[in-house]
Amino acid sequence: MAKGYNTNQERLAEINRLGKELAKRARFSCEWCSSKDDLRPWDHTPDHEPELSGLALLCRRCRELASGGTADPNELHTLRNALWSDIPAVAEGVALVLIRSRQPWVREAIEESLIEEATKSRLLALL
Ligand SMILES: [Zn+2]
Repeated sequence: MAKGYNTNQERLAEINRLGKELAKRARFSCEWCSSKDDLRPWDHTPDHEPELSGLALLCRRCRELASGGTADPNELHTLRNALWSDIPAVAEGVALVLIRSRQPWVREAIEESLIEEATKSRLLALL
């Protein structure tokens, strides 16, 4: 147990260390919806060593959506642009939220995105 705790603490410290660079990359706004509300790093790949490509700077609302919250269709359209990001945590993370929404346009939007092909197939298989 103690080991897991330490690893988790180290991980958080590492993410905090990357936070400054992340905020700069995100231009101090949410990387999904551009809001500036309570921005924090969001960890897309919690099973891997923290790195910038696996983190997205997200607002409070988008972190809610990332952890399974439901969005209304208008809100989902504002997130759609994030699919065009070349940062995996930004594009793949938002793709998962859109997939959960089951909106009819999601498949096409993901097919058109710049997400790497293997990941894209894996995501589309969830639809
Ligand atoms: Zn947001």
